[in-house]
Amino acid sequence: MSAPQKLYEGKAKIVYTTDDPEILLAYFKDDATAFNAQKRGTIQGKGEINNTISTHLFKLLEAEGVPTHFIDTVAPNEMRVKRVKIVPIEVIVRNIAAGSLCKQTGIAVGTVLEPTLVEYCYKNDELGDPLLTGDRLFLLKLATPEQLDEIKTLSLKINQVLSEFFDKCGITLVDFKLEFGYTSEGQLVLADEISPDTCRLWNKGETDPNLRVMDKDRFRHDLGNVESAYQQVLERVLAQTKMS
Ligand code: UDP
Repeated sequence: MSAPQKLYEGKAKIVYTTDDPEILLAYFKDDATAFNAQKRGTIQGKGEINNTISTHLFKLLEAEGVPTHFIDTVAPNEMRVKRVKIVPIEVIVRNIAAGSLCKQTGIAVGTVLEPTLVEYCYKNDELGDPLLTGDRLFLLKLATPEQLDEIKTLSLKINQVLSEFFDKCGITLVDFKLEFGYTSEGQLVLADEISPDTCRLWNKGETDPNLRVMDKDRFRHDLGNVESAYQQVLERVLAQTKMS
């Protein structure tokens, strides 16, 4: 048995190698960053919460026919995942207008987006993850038109599954970010994580714009009660998973 080697450390996770070259270990950290790491902090218990929420959502998606990199959960903060070649695109799926969309377009926060908006950003911290046009994406050879088509179709399917699930949890899935990768066999799979770090989640029925927020916007905008909001999302996800 060779000791695990740190392969990569990102803002929220550390990825280690394992004895099997096709399997990696993802360790979820409590560290939180926002605004391209200009704001840094710690959310107590976040690693464990996000690992657990991601585990349940990956299992749900797999059961609904969406291939993911998830293998199993081996510790409170750790999951084993398939080694993939990450597509350097962040896919943003938006059901309701919020965040950068509102800042950049003037659309009012809370506007229902029909049809769902799917956007692509260049996964490149140095450049600040800029929004891409389709043509720029092809120019940079980040994906072929066929690959992008498959990524969009899968993203919309994921949105359908997650929106329905969160709705049953009493949570509105406002928007979220996805990352995809290719396995050594060339299969496109969902990678990274799905958690309150990567989704905007609003407490259904709560109209107060500060009280309704159950995601990283509480950290980004210093709204307080960050840990308890993440904990509340976890509890609802667990309760709903048990019921279904
Ligand atoms: N998001 C993310 N990582 C990023 C950028 C965005 O997980 O690097 C998520 C974010 O939490 C939100 C959605 O993607 O759920 C849309 O984010 P937006 O483009 O509005 O950017 P923001 O306003 O968060 O800067």
